Amino acid sequence: MNPHVGNEYTFPVTIAAAPKRVAVVGGGAAGMRAAIDLTDRGHHVTVFSAGPLGGGLRRAGEVLEDPNFQELSAHLQHEVGRRAVDVKQVTAGPEELEGYDSVFLASGLAPRPFTGRVADDAVPVVVADDLTPETLAGLEGPVVVVGAGLIGVRLGMLLTDRGVATTVLERGGRIMSDDDVIYDQLFFPEIVAESGVDIRQGHDVSAVTAEGVRAVVDGVETTVPAATVILAVGHEPDVPEWAASTRVPDVVIGGARKRGRAFDAIHDAFYSALTH
Ligand SMILES: Cc1cc2nc3c(=O)[nH]c(=O)nc-3n(C[C@H](O)[C@H](O)[C@H](O)COP(=O)(O)OP(=O)(O)OC[C@H]3O[C@@H](n4cnc5c(N)ncnc54)[C@H](O)[C@@H]3O)c2cc1C
Repeated sequence: MNPHVGNEYTFPVTIAAAPKRVAVVGGGAAGMRAAIDLTDRGHHVTVFSAGPLGGGLRRAGEVLEDPNFQELSAHLQHEVGRRAVDVKQVTAGPEELEGYDSVFLASGLAPRPFTGRVADDAVPVVVADDLTPETLAGLEGPVVVVGAGLIGVRLGMLLTDRGVATTVLERGGRIMSDDDVIYDQLFFPEIVAESGVDIRQGHDVSAVTAEGVRAVVDGVETTVPAATVILAVGHEPDVPEWAASTRVPDVVIGGARKRGRAFDAIHDAFYSALTH
């Protein structure tokens, strides 16, 4: 996922006419890629990262045990580390961004809120993004995952593989339809079928109760038993309030601009940095 490959002549890295002091808010895939290419162009870059570098890429690598994500995150961290990029592990707001010539917003994606009801005595509910390898390993089954997007399906496959009884419920009639990525639609259904994960489409989840998950199927209410519920109902760009009101960033990249995959975030950052 190196955006330079094949683009060496189409998008050469040129030194910027006027080097700037650039703040990059967010140290995920997009933030790291932008920092690398902006630095190579001669800009002086500071990355503000609320947590350790890596963002969603690192979390996905850990939780889904995905070596591709782990390696990609480690590679980008290495490339940032070997350049004169100033990395500050702080949550940036208007105060931190004073004095920069330019601000790149790479604050990523936030989980979409669950619109159903969660009863007071409901079984434990966890948002997919909040999972850690430890909490995932300690989940009590049966597990119901709400949402059969990429993350819901992958969590369902992982838990099934570990012997935890898992059902993934999807409101629509298609899995992983969220981003409509063609290769997902071509290859994933076969991999998912082979994994044996129980995915039920046409289940519009309305509530989490003490018994599990309540869903409406063909107009009829049904309960799917669960000891734990994972919410994986999608993401939306996570744009901090100040970015819309106080200091408008010059450039918005990655998930903060448009919901998408790691590939999209990296390429978005690359093209934005090359033209800045
Ligand atoms: C569990 C999970 C599984 C995934 N699976 C896949 C997959 O299989 N395939 C795929 O292509 N993509 C997958 N993704 C999505 C992929 O990780 C995202 O597309 C990509 O991480 C977006 O990159 P980004 O840099 O825009 O945002 P992020 O990676 O979200 O990084 C943004 C960072 O900015 C930080 N931040 C926010 N506000 C501030 C602030 N004010 N100051 C400082 N820091 C701030 C956040 O804490 C975060 O670390 C997955 C994501 C998750 C969470």
